[in-house]
Amino acid sequence: MPPYLPRLVVASSNRGKLRELRSLLGGFAAEILSQSELGIAPAEESESSFEGNALLKARHAARLSGSPALADDSGLEVDALGGRPGVYSARYAGPDAGDADNNALLLRELADVAAPRAARYRCAIAFVREASEPAPLVVTGSWEGRIALVPRGAGGFGYDPLFLVGDGTLTAAELGADEKNRISHRALALRALLGRLEFA
Ligand code: IMP
Repeated sequence: MPPYLPRLVVASSNRGKLRELRSLLGGFAAEILSQSELGIAPAEESESSFEGNALLKARHAARLSGSPALADDSGLEVDALGGRPGVYSARYAGPDAGDADNNALLLRELADVAAPRAARYRCAIAFVREASEPAPLVVTGSWEGRIALVPRGAGGFGYDPLFLVGDGTLTAAELGADEKNRISHRALALRALLGRLEFA
């Protein structure tokens, strides 16, 4: 089957996420570019939901690139923290925080919480053909797990070394990339999007 689109701009500059989205988007578009490759600065994520932020980011990338755009907004919800860090997952430990800072803060905040420390990754993906798209497609996916006591594994990105998958013993950072891309919140959301596009 030929690709659905000649060109698609992905509204992210997170290298880990881009790697996963590129591999998941396979035959969807002939050319997949990130907004940073086009010199487009990220939009300010001012919404309070994953869905709202994904749509805001997709419209921003479509407006500045003139191409169809796709954006994901994702994060980790921890039950014992009332759903935090949620939409603030990337900047949990501060505006310039890196993955190691965020993971260290998560372990500190959960220091007195016994296992199982239930959590889930959530992802919203928005797709627009143009900035003013009247009928944007917005889909979601979630991936249940628990927060480990110590980080393990070198794959993935973000909170993956602390995210125990389902009720198993492996962290998301111990899964192979193919396995993560088959079962993750992002994979589920993207599959839902591709299913919707077939009928659009
Ligand atoms: P966003 O760029 O605002 O969507 O930020 C998402 C943040 O959530 C990332 O920076 C990570 O901290 C976290 N996150 C989302 N998806 C994943 C994942 O698959 N693995 C690990 N961390 C994730």
